[in-house]
Amino acid sequence: MHKSVIRLGLVGVGKIARDQHIPAIRNDPRFALVATASLHGSIDAVPAFDDIDAMLTADRAIDAVCLCTPPGVRAQLARRALAAGLHVMLEKPPAASLSQVDALMVAARRAGRSLMATWHSRETAAADAARAWLTGRRIVSAQVIWREDVRQWHPGQDWLLAAGGFGVFDPAINAFSLLTRILPGALEVVAADLAVPVNRGAPTEARVAMLHDGHAAVTCDLSIVHAGPPQWDIVVETDAGRLVLGTGGHRLTIDDHPQTTDADGEYARIYARFAALIDARASDVDARPLMLVADAMLLGQTRALPAFEF
Ligand code: NAP
Repeated sequence: MHKSVIRLGLVGVGKIARDQHIPAIRNDPRFALVATASLHGSIDAVPAFDDIDAMLTADRAIDAVCLCTPPGVRAQLARRALAAGLHVMLEKPPAASLSQVDALMVAARRAGRSLMATWHSRETAAADAARAWLTGRRIVSAQVIWREDVRQWHPGQDWLLAAGGFGVFDPAINAFSLLTRILPGALEVVAADLAVPVNRGAPTEARVAMLHDGHAAVTCDLSIVHAGPPQWDIVVETDAGRLVLGTGGHRLTIDDHPQTTDADGEYARIYARFAALIDARASDVDARPLMLVADAMLLGQTRALPAFEF
């Protein structure tokens, strides 16, 4: 059966919108980009509005929005879009807090619209294969090393280092999205150490200790002030071998034997799934990665670092 094209509005034309969303939308015949809402950003030949209210009240048919702003404003934008009868895709993290995510799920249910929380790092063949390999094995321990340089990956993004901007957890929530996807059991945070520059509101370095199914230690070494090449690796020791999910979920190695390496197709999969959710009138909101961040913040011991400037 022929499926209708989904007319999409893009909110927040910044780095991730330009790097990933716009190419993925253009390559997916199910979507037509019909409007943008951004104060400073726009896309050639696409009608541009300053903000979501102007976009929603314009005489323009839109079926769905994708919210690519920083997380602090995401929930209020999503609420407006749902109230206007649109389906909503949320960039990660889905909102600035768990209670906001909960309120959005209620709003989507009441509106009868699809709500999708994206976790782009999960959308790889290597992550699928890691999950399949770990299913049924006993987890002995796991280690997350997620270290990068914010000056390279988020140049000048002051919002990221403000309260509600997630700091080191902006990239590290990607690791948590993988952990919660590939490990078979439940994860709980037991302790955290958070290092916050004196002139900023969010940590730039963190160590987080978790337990898997109440006994296997999971340690996380996280930094956004890391010099040198980024490290985005998860190592899992099991009763039947050692799994390494490297390069941000793109490369799988088992017992030192390379298995799966995939190219950059994460956002194509995200849009295909969004279309499927809209067709099925379903939602997909997994808040577990955000829960782990929230618990690290709740339990974390904070210490001060010297001032950080970009
Ligand atoms: P960004 O480059 O700062 O872009 C966000 C855009 O949102 C801005 O250009 C801005 O456009 C708009 N905006 C609306 N309200 C804003 C506010 N209160 N403060 C700042 N900007 C605001 O950020 P980004 O790197 O694209 O990240 C956006 C989201 O995508 C984040 O949640 C991030 O975690 C996620 N993400 C980023 C990456 C990456 O590699 N950068 C990868 C995956 C996911 P106007 O000024 O034109 O309104």
